[in-house]
Amino acid sequence: MKLYNTLTGKKEEFKPINDKKVTMYVCGPTVYNYIHVGNARPFVVFDVLRRYFKFKGYEVDYLLNFTDIDDKMIERANEEGKTVKEVADKYIKEYLEDANNLMLKEDETKHPKATEHIKDIIDFIKELENKGYAYSVNGNVYFDIGKLNNYGKLSNKKTEELISGARIKVNDEKKSPIDFTLWKKEKQGEPSWDSPWGKGRPGWHIECSVMARKYLGDTIDIHAGGHDLEFPHHENEIAQSESLTGKTFANFWLHNAMLNIDNKKMSKSEQNFFTVRDISKEFDLEVVRYFLLSSHYRNPVNFSKEILMQTKSGLDRLYNGKKNLEHILGNAKDRELTDEDKNMIENINQFKEKFIKSMEDDLNTADAISSIFELIKYTNTNLSDETNKKVIDKAYSQLMELSEVLGILQRKEELLDDEISELIEKRIKARKNKNYQLADEIRDDLKEKGIVLEDTPQGTKWKRI
Ligand SMILES: [Zn+2]
Repeated sequence: MKLYNTLTGKKEEFKPINDKKVTMYVCGPTVYNYIHVGNARPFVVFDVLRRYFKFKGYEVDYLLNFTDIDDKMIERANEEGKTVKEVADKYIKEYLEDANNLMLKEDETKHPKATEHIKDIIDFIKELENKGYAYSVNGNVYFDIGKLNNYGKLSNKKTEELISGARIKVNDEKKSPIDFTLWKKEKQGEPSWDSPWGKGRPGWHIECSVMARKYLGDTIDIHAGGHDLEFPHHENEIAQSESLTGKTFANFWLHNAMLNIDNKKMSKSEQNFFTVRDISKEFDLEVVRYFLLSSHYRNPVNFSKEILMQTKSGLDRLYNGKKNLEHILGNAKDRELTDEDKNMIENINQFKEKFIKSMEDDLNTADAISSIFELIKYTNTNLSDETNKKVIDKAYSQLMELSEVLGILQRKEELLDDEISELIEKRIKARKNKNYQLADEIRDDLKEKGIVLEDTPQGTKWKRI
C-alpha cells in the first residue's frame, strides 16, 4: 500500500515494523465542547485506514487521545462554574455518542487521557532535562530547540526563520522565542500537580509523545491528524520523542486537508461552526461519514447542508441497491454454476479488485466508493431472482465486505423516511378500522427497528432511538 508521508513529501510503500501488527496514533479532541464536522474528518478517515489494515489481515493498535487539561478546558470550566474534570467527563461522553453514530470503531480504540498520565509526563520531562534538552526557569520547563539541528523537518520550517518571525515578549524566560513549554507553573485557581519543579500542569504537546511511547513503543508506524497540527504540535512531538529515545518517532506522518464551510474557512469569528451533534438532529451521521469519505483525504473539502442533502441521496441509492440484493437473494434458487454464472462472478470480482487498487493508492476512498456504485449498478442491471443464488450471494457478501471497510451500509433494517411515513399511515388506517392488533404490530415492528411513535393531538410523530 502506498501512503503519502508528510515527513518525506512523497507517496511511499507502507510496511509496518511488525509484519502482523500496525501501530497508529491519532491526535484526539480537546474535550471542552462538542466536536465539529472539521474535527470529525481525521477521526473518520483514519478509522477507515485502520479498517483497511484489518481487511488486509493486520492487527491494529489504535490510540486516539483525549486532551483533558489545557487553557481551553480551564476557560470552559470557569465559564460554566464547573471543575475541569466535570467538563472533561461531560464532553468525553458526548464525543463517544457522536463517535458511535459516526460508526467509528470505538470497541477497538484506546483513549488515553492526559490527566491520567501525569506521572509518566513528569518522568519524560525529567529525562529530557537530564539529557540537556529541557531547562526549567521559575517553575516552568521549556524545550531547548537550540539543541536540535533538524527542528522543522516535518513542516519544512527553518529555525532561523521561525525565530525571526516569533514575537519576543518582554521578560521572556525562554532562551529562544521558539522554545516551547513542557511544564507550566501553577496559576491560582487552576488544576495542578506536584512535580520536581513545583506545582503545575503539562504543556499541550508532551502528552502525545508520552502516551504514544507508553502504549505503542519508541517508534510507531503511523502518526496522524489534521493538517493544522503539523506545526507546531507534531513538530514538537518529534522534537520531544526523538531527543529522548534517539530513535525515529513515527515512520509515517499522515495529515488530512481542512474542511471549509460554505466555501469559507471554519473559524470562531465567522461563527460558521457546525457541531456533529447539531447535524445529527437533521441527518443520520452515516451521511456525514459518507460525505467525508467522498473526497480524497488530502484534498480540501467544502461542507454545506445542500451538499449533505445530495450526499444523502447517494447513500440512499446504495441502501436501495443493498435492499434489492437482499430481496432477490430471498427468492433465488441455488444450482450448479454455469459458465455464464462463472462469468458473472468474475465480473463481480473485478469491482473488488478496483476497490483495493484505489485504497492501496494513498487511501483513495472517493474512487473506492465509485467501485461500490459500479457493483450496485451491475447487480441492478444483471441480477434478478432468476439468477443463481450463488452469484447473488457473491455480490451481496462482496458489497457488505467492501462497505464494512468504509464503515457504511452497516445500519441494519435501515428504514427510509418514506417507508416510515407509509407504515404510520397504515397504522392510522388500522386504528380507524378498529384493527388494534395490526396497529400494535406496526408500532412494535417500528420500535424494533429503532423508531418510536408518539400519538399527539397534532397526529403521530416519530423519532429514531
Ligand atoms: Zn497530539
